[in-house]
Amino acid sequence: MIDNLIIGGGLAGLFCAFRLQQQGENFLLLEASAQSGGRIQPASENCAIDAGPTWFWPHQLKMQALTQELQVDVFEQYIDGDTLFQPAEPHAPIQKMHYQQGTSFRIKGGITLLINALQAQLLRKNLRFSSQVKALEKIDNGWQVLLNNNEKVRSRRLFLALPPRMIVKHLTPKSWLSENAITHMQQQQTWMSAQAKYIAIFETSFWREYGLSGFAISHRGPLVEIHDAVMPGQTSALFGFVGLDAQQRKDIPSEDLKAACRQQLLSIYGKQAVPTSDHLMDWSNNPYICSMADIGESPLHNHVNLQQLYQNEALPNLYFVGSEFSQSEPGYLEGALDAVDSALQLIDIS
Ligand SMILES: Cc1cc2nc3c(=O)[nH]c(=O)nc-3n(C[C@H](O)[C@H](O)[C@H](O)COP(=O)(O)OP(=O)(O)OC[C@H]3O[C@@H](n4cnc5c(N)ncnc54)[C@H](O)[C@@H]3O)c2cc1C
Repeated sequence: MIDNLIIGGGLAGLFCAFRLQQQGENFLLLEASAQSGGRIQPASENCAIDAGPTWFWPHQLKMQALTQELQVDVFEQYIDGDTLFQPAEPHAPIQKMHYQQGTSFRIKGGITLLINALQAQLLRKNLRFSSQVKALEKIDNGWQVLLNNNEKVRSRRLFLALPPRMIVKHLTPKSWLSENAITHMQQQQTWMSAQAKYIAIFETSFWREYGLSGFAISHRGPLVEIHDAVMPGQTSALFGFVGLDAQQRKDIPSEDLKAACRQQLLSIYGKQAVPTSDHLMDWSNNPYICSMADIGESPLHNHVNLQQLYQNEALPNLYFVGSEFSQSEPGYLEGALDAVDSALQLIDIS
């Protein structure tokens, strides 16, 4: 039997491992995918622009502290200049707007560098990828999980570093949670998990030369919100959120959707907006991130009643540390760090 088992190798799982290791605790981390990061992924192997989360904000002090601790460089999102608005009517002209965006931060080189920096601190032998947990049960003195290769792992403590809906979907909750708790968890959306992001790479950041911030709002689509995604000293880029929901996207070949996005960029930013390459990341296709319940819902932050879960359920030495369990910043990067810190405080490891 091992001391600490972590399920999930996204930001929460890796951060939990990092803190446990710092306290001299041994651990094993199991991640279903072939790589770490969870919702944090680059657009492609050759493109560091963020395909998942991009920003954290000035009030989010844990993210600021962690980037400093790991010596990961941070810069402010570019917001200087005008915003563009594309009305819904097909031939209506693009309008300029003065829209004051707030300050937000990004990670230089892409947010995957934060994941890489965390992983570089961890002993490789304690991380197991392509290891999907397919069942969980309570045993004497701890917990037992069953893996996709039918191997069983037993642990004294268990950290569930994944969203509530993934727990319900993959971890056979009927054998260890009450019906009420399962219903409550199933109601908690995995934030942004059903979204799709389009990323366009350019030779220059031409919009900045015309006094534009890169930020555009469209009522026409397919992109509904476009942002400057330039990686300083590396890549000129814009990214946009696709406005069609996951169900609608399923009927459109991704090459057709990308072509429609390219056409839209031309109509908003003019003839210079011809990307040298582009990428589409549809998160709803990832069975370890998105569930049927997430598809069709608009992004929203729920609130897990963690105190009630711990009080009403018999869950000895089990801790919920995925971002959605944070009581202050659920769904955010900051939430992943907060959920881990809160759990480690409960067991006096922090
Ligand atoms: C498009 C998009 C944009 C976003 N933008 C922002 C932003 O700008 N700012 C912000 O703060 N947040 C943003 N977010 C949210 C942010 O990505 C999350 O808060 C954060 O990454 C959550 O980390 P986590 O480790 O809690 O969960 P996850 O990243 O979901 O990690 C859970 C891990 O568990 C693994 N797993 C699932 N099931 C199993 C199983 N059965 N066995 C083993 N492993 C399993 C998964 O593969 C995954 O690696 C965005 C998310 C998306 C998708």
